[in-house]
Amino acid sequence: MLDTSQSSPRIRGMFIGGDWTPAARTFDDLNPSDNSLYARIPDGTAEDMRRAIEAAHAAFPAWSGLHFHERARLLLKAADIWERRTDDFCAAAMAEGGGWHGKGMFEAGYVSEVFRSAAALCYQNIGEVLPSEHGKFSTATRWPLGVVSVISPWNMPGILTARGFAAALAVGNTVVLKPSEDTPYAGGLYFGEILEEAGIPAGVFNVVTCSREGVQAVGDEMIENPLVKAVSFTGSTAVGRHIAAKAGAYLKKACVELGGKDSLIVLEDADLDHAAQAANFGSFMHQGQVCMSTEKILVHEDVYDDFMAKFLARAKKLKTGPTSDRDNVIGPLVNARQAERVRGLLEDARAKGATFELGGRSWDNFVEPTVLTGVDGSMNIWNDETFGPVAIVCRFRDEDEAVRLNNDTEYGLTAAVMTRDEARAMRLAGRLETGMVHVNCQNINDEPHVPFGGVKASGVGRYGGRWSLDAFTELRWITLDRGGRHFPPVF
Ligand code: NAD
Repeated sequence: MLDTSQSSPRIRGMFIGGDWTPAARTFDDLNPSDNSLYARIPDGTAEDMRRAIEAAHAAFPAWSGLHFHERARLLLKAADIWERRTDDFCAAAMAEGGGWHGKGMFEAGYVSEVFRSAAALCYQNIGEVLPSEHGKFSTATRWPLGVVSVISPWNMPGILTARGFAAALAVGNTVVLKPSEDTPYAGGLYFGEILEEAGIPAGVFNVVTCSREGVQAVGDEMIENPLVKAVSFTGSTAVGRHIAAKAGAYLKKACVELGGKDSLIVLEDADLDHAAQAANFGSFMHQGQVCMSTEKILVHEDVYDDFMAKFLARAKKLKTGPTSDRDNVIGPLVNARQAERVRGLLEDARAKGATFELGGRSWDNFVEPTVLTGVDGSMNIWNDETFGPVAIVCRFRDEDEAVRLNNDTEYGLTAAVMTRDEARAMRLAGRLETGMVHVNCQNINDEPHVPFGGVKASGVGRYGGRWSLDAFTELRWITLDRGGRHFPPVF
């Protein structure tokens, strides 16, 4: 089915201090399905970011001083406006990000729940009362930090941007957002439109867009500026390491959610039809461009042949092409650089002896669903996050080998285990070095109120529900002395 609604948005400028502000230059934002121009985006500078940070700093006292239910009300209003504009977001995510229509609809629905769950945070308890040696009223209470810098990726521009800032706003911080240069509208300026309509006070939420060429200077300002108190980053491990190291040097809080090389383990007692469908979704949803994508499928040798037959039969049916045709479940990779990177990984695997069970063809920004076997640690694709529609399938003999293969990566985001034996799955889950484990589901799972995050090179910190409070508030010990503290008489 052809979709003709993918027209360009009206870009009004960057959203700074409540005003739509032009930049001195613009950069081209392309539709990855055909590399046509989607929009011309303001190419902001470090100076623009400095003005946004100053606006956010100026807005902080009033925003953090609002009654909590007023902040909640604004977030609930944003959720309603977001929901009303579902089609606009979906069109933008398809044309600017190259996503399939179904992914856009899922993402749109999720974002309104991110706003609603952030509103619910306003009603959480904000501290504890502690025993005191001196009979004081001794409290540990949470306080907003001030200005929070948010840097978001392109692959789920709605969810990952909203997740990066909604909880921060709810608890009284103000925000400067820099979206990815690949989705500056769907992951950035679009949020400015939504929050402006919701009535966000000037300066509480700011969006500065910039090209890849300008990102180093703009990104540095987002950490080095003394008015910034914390950084919320979602993106690649390479950039995340740089951000976390810089935040450490400037003693700023940082929550960094990074890449993954996630495995789905199929034990010999699994429901193989379910496992094959789950693996197909986990591996190829959004062309494998999800941090939690199933990159390695580890299958017990007793059921390997049966599983492969079912998995390949499903994967073969996925159609690849421009997302303006809704039958194309596999759209383009987000840009030529990513497509070239995935092609490089496939060529390296081919040269070193991997077997292509399915796919392998690639053109323009497209890579068709590809299934590899015979992959080993000498191949880059065993170690590097592929972030493309490629699944590696590997057989194992026993649980120890499955655990070893799962943990044989610098990453540690999610793992999935397929089995009819829940007790066995729970034992196994404890041995898998990941921040999240899903039993009888594939790897891609997230909900706005759960502690989402990885271990090892997949990140530090957790987003979601009350766990976001650790990222976006500081704890203060505040006591009230009621005459119980006595001092040595010599004083
Ligand atoms: P990326 O690291 O290239 O870019 C992420 C963001 O960082 C973008 O906004 C980019 O402009 C910005 N950036 C780049 N260099 C910067 C610098 N020097 N200073 C400041 N900001 C800078 O990642 P990407 O290609 O946009 O996203 C894909 C990656 O993100 C994958 O590795 C994926 O696994 C990861 N990811 C992780 C999660 C998670 O929750 N763990 C979720 C989605 C994506």
